[in-house]
Amino acid sequence: HLANHDALTGLPNRRHLEHELFTRAGRTENTTVRLACAVIDLDRFKDINDTLGHAAGDALIQAVAERLVANLRADDFVARLGGDEFAILRECRDLFDADNLSSGIAAAFAEPFPVLGHQLEASASVGVSVSGLDRAIEELMREADIALYEAKAKQKGSTVRFAPTMASKIEQRRTLEVDLKVAIANRALTMAYQPIVDAKSGTISSVEALVRWNCTKHGSVPPDVFVAIAEETGMMADLGRFVIEQSIEDSKRWPHISTAVNISPAQLRSASIVQDLMGPARRHNVSPVNITLEITESVLLSNDQRTLRTLNILKENGFSLALDDFGTGYSSLAYVRDFPFDKLKIDRSFVTGQQDKGRSLDIVKAVVNFGLILGREVVAEGIETKQEMQAMQAAGVTHLQGYLFSKPISAAHLEALIATSGRLTAASAETATDDADSSTVDLSLAAKLRRIA
Ligand code: C2E
Ligand code: CA
Ligand code: CA
Repeated sequence: HLANHDALTGLPNRRHLEHELFTRAGRTENTTVRLACAVIDLDRFKDINDTLGHAAGDALIQAVAERLVANLRADDFVARLGGDEFAILRECRDLFDADNLSSGIAAAFAEPFPVLGHQLEASASVGVSVSGLDRAIEELMREADIALYEAKAKQKGSTVRFAPTMASKIEQRRTLEVDLKVAIANRALTMAYQPIVDAKSGTISSVEALVRWNCTKHGSVPPDVFVAIAEETGMMADLGRFVIEQSIEDSKRWPHISTAVNISPAQLRSASIVQDLMGPARRHNVSPVNITLEITESVLLSNDQRTLRTLNILKENGFSLALDDFGTGYSSLAYVRDFPFDKLKIDRSFVTGQQDKGRSLDIVKAVVNFGLILGREVVAEGIETKQEMQAMQAAGVTHLQGYLFSKPISAAHLEALIATSGRLTAASAETATDDADSSTVDLSLAAKLRRIA
């Protein structure tokens, strides 16, 4: 009996639940009764454990277990799956029974939980699946898990009912993962380059290297989607090495213009990052002075000494450093001052539709001044309209980047562009067609993939 129960709460455990699922499936076979399975996962449980300690975490789990039992029906089967996960089985006699299950769970979390003298507000995300004639009972828990995954992605504290399209989305994400691995191994990715211009003269002062994956099966997959997949699945080191190698090699086509390479947080944490950059630079005989590393602001959040040390070593080797997506990571201004960045790239969200947002223009001005006082260059990215360009010029930014000047283009195209003019005005952007960029992406596909990832 003990082996079937969870020691902390006394509730049935996962094994018991799986057994019960089959018992009830057999009992309700050839009846109109359907089985509903709900999987419940507490939100921010780790924070509670970390801030109040494990005793508080345990007490909360016990309190939640009691509440669930109290708020559900006597014949509901309430189990603890482990950690902060619970599951409930209910026999539904009509359509309302499944909905009542969700509201019963919600009621359990409506009041704060008394935990070691604290009153703790807790919420949970819930995935629900209801059996049907067309589906195998073994699938019920897996489906509830998939629905839970969707609930967490949607909004913490929400309840999501399983739909068959969700399974195909997860399937699609898995396929994407497998195909990406093959693409990286076969070097089937390409690089596109987007000019960054001097805000006063319009001359191209640098270019940003952006990776592209044009796949016969998936079309062109947005880089923020597949970079995130690579980060989560341990493929970033390989993807990063491809990006570094290819952009350093291509940078020789425009030796007087510096090339900016994006370095993801996982790459920066890797012990081999200095070698991964210095190796290709030596091999292609490119001076690190011509390479800028773009590092997203969120890496500063943890303010760990190792990151600072790595950045200093890269700087000592001659690389320039740019703080990317500046303004989105909530990093303290003191960090920005103390870290050795040469450039700040103001995030596109501060640039878009600036003319309608008097107040955020004031913020942009303050940020620009902050950067200038520290002696940094300040780049505004994502400039699409003349108004945005003028607003950023008025705010005092030193460099501009965006579709208004040029989309990301192939190395060959960029080389030709630099050879003919080297100067980009808003007007010349019309002729700079995009032969390498994701603008050919079906936008609805892009949005869909982003949601999956
Ligand atoms: P990011 O580093 O902020 O790159 C700028 C993004 O803004 C690029 O999107 C670029 O195409 C887009 N962009 C430039 N001008 C405009 C504009 O005027 N309007 C709009 N709407 N967008 C503009 P992209 O290429 O889709 O890349 C998205 C993100 O994926 C990048 O954001 C970066 O975080 C990541 N990424 C791209 N390539 C690489 C790479 O080689 N390595 C790593 N680690 N990350 C990369
Ligand atoms: Ca960037
Ligand atoms: Ca950026």
